Amino acid sequence: MLPLALIVVAVVTVVFTLWPVLTGTTRRFETSHMDTPTGRLEQRKNIVLRNITDLDFEFAMGKMAEGDHTSMRDALKRQAGSILEQLEVLKQGDAVATARPANRPAHASNDATTGPSAAFCVHCGQKLPTVARFCSGCGEKVVS
Ligand SMILES: [Zn+2]
Repeated sequence: MLPLALIVVAVVTVVFTLWPVLTGTTRRFETSHMDTPTGRLEQRKNIVLRNITDLDFEFAMGKMAEGDHTSMRDALKRQAGSILEQLEVLKQGDAVATARPANRPAHASNDATTGPSAAFCVHCGQKLPTVARFCSGCGEKVVS
């Protein structure tokens, strides 16, 4: 009985540990994050900020001359500044481009809901595309 229990625990542990690898969840998440221009800039920003921290650390440890430290730090700060500027521009662009869908529930993102002839559910008041036969809010049959 005991060996069987141990085997079960071991299998569960291995599956649980490898689950993200087996299903590709982690990789998919990272890929989709990195695929956006904002994600790439965020990563560059993090690298530059880490470089500044490393630089300060090396200077503090006495591994670097003050002049070198100052000029390299200035260069990194300029880099970080330009990345932050690009991020700002991108985020503002994203806000304009995606403000509407981002603030709406997925089931209501259909553009038909915003048409001049859009209907409303008589049961719950959910705005509906005119082609909808069932309410996306409460699931009731749409009465037209
Ligand atoms: Zn409804």
